[in-house]
Amino acid sequence: MKVLKFGGSSLADADRIRRAARIVLRAARHERVVVVVSACQGVTDRLLACAKRAEEGTGKYRDDYDYVVHLHVALLTDLLGARRPRRTVSAVTALLDDLGDVLHGIALLRHCSPRALDLVASFGELLAAALFASYLRRRHPAEDVDARALIVTDDRFTRAGVQSEPTHRAVRRYFRRRSRSKGRRPIAVITGFIGATADGRTTTLGRNGSDYTAAIIGAALSASRIEIWTDVDGVFTADPDIVPSALVVPHLSYEETMELSYFGATVLHAASIAPAVAGRIPILIKNTLNPHGPETWITERTESWDRVAKGITSVDDVTLLTLRGMRMVGAPGTADRLFRSLAAEEVNVILISQASSEHTICLAVSHDDTPRARQALTREFHYELEAGATAVDVATGQTIVAIVGDGMRGTPGVSGRVFQALGRNNINVTAIAQGASERNISFVIDTRQRSRALNVIHQAFFETRKRLDLLVMGVGNIGRTLLEQLRTQAPALARQGFDVRVVGIANSRWYVLRPEGIDLGQWPALLGVDCTASEHVVAAYEVFVRANAHVITPNKKVNVLPWETYAALKDLMHSRQKYLLYEANVGAGLPVISTLRDLVASGDEIVKIEGILSGTLSYLFNQLDGTRPFSALVQEAHRKGLTEPDPRDDLCGEDVARKLLILARELGLEMELRDVECENLVPRSLRRGVFSPAFYEAFAKADGAMRRRLERAQEHRAVLRYVGVLEEASASAGLREVPLHHPFATTTGSDNVIAFTTRRYAKTPLVIQGAGAGADVTAMGVFSDILKLLHYLPY
Ligand code: ADP
Ligand code: ASP
Ligand code: MG
Repeated sequence: MKVLKFGGSSLADADRIRRAARIVLRAARHERVVVVVSACQGVTDRLLACAKRAEEGTGKYRDDYDYVVHLHVALLTDLLGARRPRRTVSAVTALLDDLGDVLHGIALLRHCSPRALDLVASFGELLAAALFASYLRRRHPAEDVDARALIVTDDRFTRAGVQSEPTHRAVRRYFRRRSRSKGRRPIAVITGFIGATADGRTTTLGRNGSDYTAAIIGAALSASRIEIWTDVDGVFTADPDIVPSALVVPHLSYEETMELSYFGATVLHAASIAPAVAGRIPILIKNTLNPHGPETWITERTESWDRVAKGITSVDDVTLLTLRGMRMVGAPGTADRLFRSLAAEEVNVILISQASSEHTICLAVSHDDTPRARQALTREFHYELEAGATAVDVATGQTIVAIVGDGMRGTPGVSGRVFQALGRNNINVTAIAQGASERNISFVIDTRQRSRALNVIHQAFFETRKRLDLLVMGVGNIGRTLLEQLRTQAPALARQGFDVRVVGIANSRWYVLRPEGIDLGQWPALLGVDCTASEHVVAAYEVFVRANAHVITPNKKVNVLPWETYAALKDLMHSRQKYLLYEANVGAGLPVISTLRDLVASGDEIVKIEGILSGTLSYLFNQLDGTRPFSALVQEAHRKGLTEPDPRDDLCGEDVARKLLILARELGLEMELRDVECENLVPRSLRRGVFSPAFYEAFAKADGAMRRRLERAQEHRAVLRYVGVLEEASASAGLREVPLHHPFATTTGSDNVIAFTTRRYAKTPLVIQGAGAGADVTAMGVFSDILKLLHYLPY
């Protein structure tokens, strides 16, 4: 024998009711079934609203009442058609009339006691059972059963406690009597959620209580299993409405389920586990809309599952009360007084945390309990509060998040992973508690951060793929090339477990956001890629960071900001755990920055960094062999597009100075751009004014001096190179004679070369050489940063 429970979500409309009935009839072919139904979806809410409105005495409740009437009459017509059995019609009509009378009574009295509220709420289940049984009867004998004749409770209206002994007796008696009757045995359709006191007053078992009813009936009849049919495929790793990537957990232990549902997984009522545990009855959660799909089994022991946690849940509308005071230190009995006073006010404490200094005790209570909790505390600690020795802080609008799983027991690093995920996403935690069972870690956050918290923790625990969303700013040569590289490499990245998506592209005039690419329910790491040369974009980095984005850029502007601004931005990024990556700043795609970082991180000491750091200057001096004047070479390079639009921007050496500064700051040197001594190859008289082709005429006058420098170098068996040097905390750049055997002498084209002389690379420096300019290699430098970021991010 098995119990099948259909929740409101399975009884939302006629179509779903038909599906539910098909499931029952199919199951009944193989074994005896008992059905438990709750009210049709939304009905309990309407009924409770109705009662509250009736209490106001204005007659406004009639709208809600009419809605309930119409809903059930429409279902009756839709399900049973024109040939509606008179018996059902009169039963439903009688119930609706009774409900109308009760509401009228409340309106007259202008008072709705919890007892009256339960009576009103009970009509939802009574109506649903009558309809469902009648629909089943078209195919199979069935009868609706009023659970008030079976479930015996105390008189705590709205959340009554079930008395199991008399309840079990009543259930067994009822089914024994039925089994003696002749003919095909009818399927019992029992009302969930409701019960009655021993003297017959209607009670309810608390919201979502029909799960509990099903478990009680199952336990009383020693059912082989209890099936909870709902509108999702089982228990998910998180509420699928909040975490779209949640997965169905195939198997849970009773304890895990209890923790999950206690902390907000409404899919199963927390108390409903107990009767099933006592009878060791397996519970199966299934989807009425997808009966052959995945499902969750809940049994005594959990099956293996390759993740430590099973689920994440949350409870909203929580208030955090913090009792502070020196008196508590070493004063025994404080906690006892605290909890006794709360218990006396019937306040349910959801979470407790006490710091080992004993200076504070934090407790979380539900929003509804807050006034009573506060009253209890102010009364109990009256003297301490008055003397100013103790204070009570109250924070409303809080949410408790719990991570649950048997596998968390004895697994190190679980809480580390939780709080790292939260920290990285700038989510502040106001209290933490871990159950001694180690099956549950709970913490309190501001409700506004709930969705983000659930999603990032879900990502940390349940998602094996790393996601990164990119906003690419600037679509000139580099930006466009990068987008192309990303497009062609997307399948390769996907094979490595990375989902990299471009969700936005912008330049100075327009932007495109691809909302279908941005899944707002998820919180993948966000990355701003600045492929512009714009100062405005750099100024916005702070905004990006505050919006939780990492930043990657080939743009050098950020790294040469005045030290104070630069350091403040770095601090902000550090505190927000955000990366700023700029491999392409020096040597384009050459691994210069990353090599430097590896050297330093591995304990090497940097003695000297020298390099040919400007692609343009590299090209010019590779060409300069005395056959043609320098100014002609510059003019030709200009024509070929190898210089900046104004070639003086290359000749002044500032680009080299910037790169030296970046390397210096990488080593932790507090340096400014003006501290880099740098030789300007443009004669002083030609440095000002707008650039025009006439520049070359005047510039040719300096050719003689350049020729003489070259000849001197040649006499020394050397070549001329524009070299940047960083040594002993000082940086300089200028034209140097480089001996022919030196690696810098053998460059070609617009090669960059960087040589690191270090304690380990003392005799022969570590040299990195290759093309140091061009969209291809620069975009590749940016791409390599994206890959680095994917590896750095913990999930
Ligand atoms: P019913 O009306 O069938 O009793 P409920 O609304 O009580 O349905 O419970 C099912 C709902 O529980 C789902 O639609 C889902 O929105 C919510 N829910 C919350 N947490 C979870 C979870 N961890 N797994 C599955 N569902 C969850
Ligand atoms: N109908 C009741 C409620 O909405 C009981 C249930 O759905 O389980 O709370
Ligand atoms: Mg439910």
